[in-house]
Amino acid sequence: MTQYIPQNVGENSLWNHTAASIPVTKTLEESLQADVLVVGGGYTGLSSALHLAEKGASVVLLEAKGFGFGGSGRNAGLVNAGVWKSPEYVEQQLGQEQGRRFNQAMQDSPRLVFDLIEQYRIDCDASQCGTINIAHKASAMRYLEHRCEQMQKIGAQARIIDGDTAQALSGSPKYRHGGILDPTAGTIHPLKYAFGLSQAASTNGAKLYQDSPLDKLTRQDNHWIAETSSGQVKAEQVVIATNAYADDHSQGVRESTLPVYIFQCATAALPPAVADSIIPQRHGLWDTRTLMTSSRVDNEGRLIMSSAGSLSGFYRSIRQSWMTRLRNKLYPQTRGIPWAYHWTGQVGVTSTKLLRIQVLAPGVLAPAGYNGRGIGPGTVIGKHLADTLVSGNRDEFPFQIESLQRESWRKSRAAYYEYGTLALQLIDSR
Ligand SMILES: Cc1cc2nc3c(=O)[nH]c(=O)nc-3n(C[C@H](O)[C@H](O)[C@H](O)COP(=O)(O)OP(=O)(O)OC[C@H]3O[C@@H](n4cnc5c(N)ncnc54)[C@H](O)[C@@H]3O)c2cc1C
Repeated sequence: MTQYIPQNVGENSLWNHTAASIPVTKTLEESLQADVLVVGGGYTGLSSALHLAEKGASVVLLEAKGFGFGGSGRNAGLVNAGVWKSPEYVEQQLGQEQGRRFNQAMQDSPRLVFDLIEQYRIDCDASQCGTINIAHKASAMRYLEHRCEQMQKIGAQARIIDGDTAQALSGSPKYRHGGILDPTAGTIHPLKYAFGLSQAASTNGAKLYQDSPLDKLTRQDNHWIAETSSGQVKAEQVVIATNAYADDHSQGVRESTLPVYIFQCATAALPPAVADSIIPQRHGLWDTRTLMTSSRVDNEGRLIMSSAGSLSGFYRSIRQSWMTRLRNKLYPQTRGIPWAYHWTGQVGVTSTKLLRIQVLAPGVLAPAGYNGRGIGPGTVIGKHLADTLVSGNRDEFPFQIESLQRESWRKSRAAYYEYGTLALQLIDSR
């Protein structure tokens, strides 16, 4: 059997540079049988495999590249409660009862993430110190106050902080209007978390393979036969967890989201006095600008910022310069300090801005479209999928299951995001 040591993101990613122990696994080179086949080794697939194995199901997971190759190894590491859209919007879209169940499951998602980290002693620089959705201008507080009320109605401990507190907790003279502080949220090293989930799943008996892309899925009698170039898995049920990184063999999942880029830049460890002055209590921060920007400082004192867009070709210099200018305004104490890392990732965006759990064929489920909020949601969905696949009872499943939803004009709409954000960044730079 071939040992596979994944290269993962293959860019100048901070997470790649600092993820100490990369899991070594085999590529699939045999014929196996399992209760459930999971395709995709991000949080959704790994959490599904872990929770299925915990419940005694036999499970095989196939990852095309390496664990965390997709969004799960590239993200900003903010473990936030809820989804991108507000609880009120979720209820409007899904109806009151379905929306309530959805909101509740997502509100509790940081707890599941941090509980798993503790239970399996996942070494991923986890810090449940809270995150802040911070206002970039005074008028944004109206939106944040309304959103905070909605969060509190579903039991969240989130609370509004005033301008002085926001400024003290951010260390930025620009973030002086207030925000929502959620003390149950926090930050992780995203790639280490993915690796830790893979280890936990494997310890519980799941069989995990990297460098083993699904090529073909066919129905034979009452089973699914999944083929890779060198092996085969026969399974009763299949979870396609390929999300925004779905390829041609992902059974149409690719068509269900628009691939939208987010980029990140990180400094090397800042001088201690500078690091101590920025986000001193190490909250994760994301702001209310149209071009949402997140900031955090990791355990080593590196400042990590993210915003919308890719870094390919000449976009890289435009976007990095824009980010530097923004950083100088937000955190003037970093002026003159170069970026040491930069990398990108794709998020799966849907028209409704809500994730989908799709049934592609009998026994084939495909969650997708997390719209940029997937650490908690991916982990929670994996757990609920495992519960429902093992029990066969969908009554307790807090999400609506729908047929494959294809986004129309995917490429042009994704290009619209890419050029739209670029235009805003160019205007902002003048
Ligand atoms: C830059 C960036 C910043 C983000 N920041 C945050 C954040 O701060 N907080 C947050 O909650 N969320 C954030 N997100 C979103 C979050 O990272 C994703 O929603 C989440 O990781 C999705 O997990 P997943 O397991 O569903 O999919 P992925 O992690 O994308 O995994 C899909 C996997 O499927 C594999 N695959 C594809 N085709 C095949 C095949 N044929 N056979 C086998 N395997 C296949 C891929 O290689 C990939 O590893 C961010 C995303 C990005 C890109």
